[in-house]
Formats: sequence, structure tokens, C-alpha cells
Amino acid sequence: MERTLSIVKPDGVRKNIVGEVIGRFEKAGLQVIALKMAHLSKAEAEGFYAVHSKRPFFGSLTEFMCSGPVVLMALEGPDAIKKVRDMMGATDPAKAAQGTIRKDFADSIESNIVHGSDAPETAGFEIPYFFSALETMRR
Ligand code: GDP
Repeated sequence: MERTLSIVKPDGVRKNIVGEVIGRFEKAGLQVIALKMAHLSKAEAEGFYAVHSKRPFFGSLTEFMCSGPVVLMALEGPDAIKKVRDMMGATDPAKAAQGTIRKDFADSIESNIVHGSDAPETAGFEIPYFFSALETMRR
């Protein structure tokens, strides 16, 4: 069993595909263990993407991430991190494989609908960034 953090980014919420994205994860055998909507502040988006702070797109990316509400979720299942990454597709939708979320719905390398943790250490930072221990407790 593994846990990962996924986000339906502001463009996904604007396009009314929150249910579509969560439905794809559920159909792939992943369980939603925590879920909430939030409108991130600039500081919150900057903290989340701190690893990218030196990249030229950091300002634009963090503006985009607080341009509207997002849906935050922790998912659990066998191989959850790779499963979500495979379903998301490449960062640039032009390079994403057929049938992936980004290929089907994303407009650009920045507005690419969905986030998923890229490694266990990343998930270990990202899940508690948004959810408390109580919110992600198995009951
Ligand atoms: P991911 O793991 O596929 O989400 O990609 P990265 O961790 O490399 O980048 C994080 C996010 O930054 C991406 O999902 C995009 O929203 C954005 N991003 C990545 N590369 C670029 C870029 O070259 N230009 C812009 N404007 N945004 C980018």
C-alpha cells in the first residue's frame, strides 16, 4: 500500500472535470482517503512548489496555482504514486500519451489539470503539507 497527493489544479476545476479526474483514480483501484477544496494563497503555492523556486516558470506557476480553487486529495492503493503519474501523462500535454488526463484535457505545459507526487519522499512532504494526521487517519 502506498499514498500519494493529487491536486485537480484551477484549470481542472474551471473545466468541470473534478469528478472525471477523481473517477479515473477510483476506477484504477485507488481510494480517496482525504479530500478538500481550497483556494491557495501565493505563499501557500510557493511553499508547495519550493523545489521549483529557481526555475524560470516559478512565478507564473504559483500565480496559476492560486488563480482559482483547487481540489486536494490523498489517495491510497498498491503502487499509488506510479499509477497516478501514469494516468496523468507527461507534463507537456503535447507529449502526453493517448488516454492520459493531460492528453485528454490539458491546454499547456503549465495549465495541465492535475498534480501527482513523483516519489515516496515527495508524497511524504506533500500529504502533510495540506492534511493533518487526523484527516489522513485510517478509521
Ligand atoms: P509534473 O511533475 O509533471 O507536474 O512536472 P514538474 O514537477 O516538472 O513541474 C511542476 C509543474 O510546473 C507542472 O505540472 C506545470 O504546471 C509547471 N511547469 C513545468 N514545466 C513548465 C514549463 O516549462 N513552463 C511553465 N510555464 N510551467 C511549467
